[in-house]
Amino acid sequence: MQEPSARPAHPEREALLEQLIDRLATLPSIGRKSAQRLAYHLLSRPLEEVSDFAATVSEARRRIHPCSVCGNHTEFDICRICLNPRRQQNLICVVEKPAEVAAFEKTGSFQGVYHVLGGCLSPLDGIGPGELRLESLFRRVTADGVEIIIALNTNAEGEATATYISQRLVGSKVRITRLARGIPVGSDLEYVDELTMLRALESRVEFQ
Ligand SMILES: [Zn+2]
Repeated sequence: MQEPSARPAHPEREALLEQLIDRLATLPSIGRKSAQRLAYHLLSRPLEEVSDFAATVSEARRRIHPCSVCGNHTEFDICRICLNPRRQQNLICVVEKPAEVAAFEKTGSFQGVYHVLGGCLSPLDGIGPGELRLESLFRRVTADGVEIIIALNTNAEGEATATYISQRLVGSKVRITRLARGIPVGSDLEYVDELTMLRALESRVEFQ
């Protein structure tokens, strides 16, 4: 492979620019046109600024990992939500991914904690209970007076996961609730607006 800094006298094609655009286009919600715009933007900025940007991306990816209690993103062993003494440790909101924790946090009024499963059950994609952070959830709910709020997307995978959790907890004293309807079926919780999220949380219902 050609060194990026080396400049061949007779380039056959602008491979590096194409590669940059291809990479950017792999990002979510970035189409080919946006990728091109971002590439040209980056190339118009000072080298130092772009290097800093790249370093932050790589540093964040390297140092941020799942919280050892809830699975949310943290650069420490335990995240700031789990460590916050003002949060109710016996009210656990179960979500699929860290982006949804951020969505709930934006409402500013949830006083409980979270458990991030890291996905939902999907046998066709080879995702069984062993691939998700489920056992650590069951270990967290052994104390009395625990409520878990199932806040999973209402697609087939989310429903299967919710059912699995409730079945595993049959006979336990855990109260299981779920978000009230009102969140459009099949919509990604990550993108639901704060007010709708808050209402769904406040008027949550017993899981049947
Ligand atoms: Zn945590």
